[in-house]
Amino acid sequence: MPGRYGGDRGNGGRGGGRGGDRGGGRGKPPAPRITGVRDAARLAEELGRMDGASYGRYKSLVGDWEFDDFTLSIEKVQADPFAPPSRIAVRIPADVAGLPEHAWTDPVRRRATADYLLRVAHRALKGARLRIDAGGQQVLDRASGRIRDGEVLLRLGIEMPGHGRRIDGRSARAEFCERLPEMVEALRWDALDTAEATAFADSVEDSAALRDALPGLGLVAFVADGSVLPRASGVSDRPMEGDFVPFSAPPSMRASVRLPHAGEVSGLGIREGITLIVGGGFHGKSTLLHALERGVYDHVPGDGRELVATRADAVKIRAEEGRRVERTDVSAFVRNLPTGADTSDFRTDNASGSTSQAANIAEALEAGAGALLVDEDTTATNLMIRDARMQELVHGDREPLTPFVDLVRPLHRDQGVSTVLVMGGSGDYFDVADQVVMLDGYRPYDVTERARELASERTDADFPAPARRVVDPRSVDATARGRMRLKRRDMDVLTYGENEIDVRGLTQLVDPGQVIGVGLAMRTLTERGLVDGRATVAEALDALEDLLAEADGDGSGAASVLGRGYLGDFALPRRFETAAALNRLRSLRVRRSG
Ligand code: ADP
Ligand code: MG
Repeated sequence: MPGRYGGDRGNGGRGGGRGGDRGGGRGKPPAPRITGVRDAARLAEELGRMDGASYGRYKSLVGDWEFDDFTLSIEKVQADPFAPPSRIAVRIPADVAGLPEHAWTDPVRRRATADYLLRVAHRALKGARLRIDAGGQQVLDRASGRIRDGEVLLRLGIEMPGHGRRIDGRSARAEFCERLPEMVEALRWDALDTAEATAFADSVEDSAALRDALPGLGLVAFVADGSVLPRASGVSDRPMEGDFVPFSAPPSMRASVRLPHAGEVSGLGIREGITLIVGGGFHGKSTLLHALERGVYDHVPGDGRELVATRADAVKIRAEEGRRVERTDVSAFVRNLPTGADTSDFRTDNASGSTSQAANIAEALEAGAGALLVDEDTTATNLMIRDARMQELVHGDREPLTPFVDLVRPLHRDQGVSTVLVMGGSGDYFDVADQVVMLDGYRPYDVTERARELASERTDADFPAPARRVVDPRSVDATARGRMRLKRRDMDVLTYGENEIDVRGLTQLVDPGQVIGVGLAMRTLTERGLVDGRATVAEALDALEDLLAEADGDGSGAASVLGRGYLGDFALPRRFETAAALNRLRSLRVRRSG
């Protein structure tokens, strides 16, 4: 059932996202909290009594309310109808939720079940003012839904209903006292389609197991036969329906993996080393690469890419003209700039296409990337190739760039980093490819032998280890005028303290919530002292990952580490996107440690 689960996030995310954490009621004294019995009946009564009162009275609702089956915590109430939505939390005890242990004891299944519950909650709230953040095609760890020891913890937003600046108590009562209990009722295990819920967790567990199996098989990625790679449209992340060509691996490149639920699965095994994807225009090259980019995440059943898995440390590389670069070593690619700048310690506020791409590679390696994904459509041509005639015309000493084609093999040999590259426009990469896949009418063929016959000798350069940079924690300040400031504009801009970070180039951010997640991860790095003026970028990211894994292990949940004191929605990002956002922060200052 394609697209059954949740909203269509497309590429743009939902508009007008607010990760706002604004306090309200500045100036006026806050409405006193309602005291005494605080149960559902009392809440209904108070909301009825508030009808027509001034909007600020809503604030008296703050605190816990005991319903028969759950606890509602009204955590933050907006000061006026135009402020960011109010935030509430719902705690459903384990005996009410009734989740069997197989749904949540294992961390992967716990994430899957929480995600499934969010999708059910989202559907149950259709047409309500209450809003819950549920996923798109990927299954991510998100703050809006967690399971802790079988108990279900949800976070929601609501625009408190008003007639202008007067309270609409009846509507509020309908939301809190009817829609909300209905939603909770829908989430009880015995109210769910338990076969579907279990199949959902099984599918996610298989995806994760497949990804975990890749290194042991010497693979960078795996694309199962029968996968649906194309999407419904350029702005939709749902699978294409109707007339598509299902994926089918060429026999010589076929690998097979045993998964816990699906059993033996076969498909294309993309081996470590250098893989070239060639083929005519419009034959499906970029579609395959996009699927690989997203293969670092688990997908919902019915997505078509559930069994497309890529190593978790695979990073998409692209050119990103105009970005800032802070003291990065790009000397493997760039030397002898006309400015005389030291490219082993390169800094610019306005990188060119080629230098931005070189910096993106250097930073991905610094953050620990084990595989690079590159598409000719989004690269700087002069960093990718240089043909013989151009070398005749522009001699070595006048060309500062060493093209990627001369570095991709040393990158694997010296640093152990594989590359999967789409290149339909030049045969130069035949010289360096370990395997060549040709897409013809969306069908993959093994053309490695044929490409090898056309290859010529090439002398490789060296690929040095990435620079070790140490971040100055003061340069990563999440606050503006003394309070934390974290917002996003769609999936384009992250406001972090006083800075705006352009995140459009981070194509492996797949969910609007991850944009906020990246900001929270950066804040956590400094607040928890992981970026302390001594640890390198890689060490700080390792330490953060340890914290997240620890919280996941003890049941408190990774999101709880990032979300301290933050009531808004967010989803967990990868370390690579956190590093990438940090590297694009215009206030960033680093010191080099060798
Ligand atoms: P290329 O990068 O080779 O130029 P793209 O990957 O951009 O080609 O694909 C071109 C078009 O073909 C896109 O509209 C894409 O959705 C569609 N497409 C890709 N794979 C398939 C497939 N397996 N079946 C049907 N259409 C596909
Ligand atoms: Mg393309």
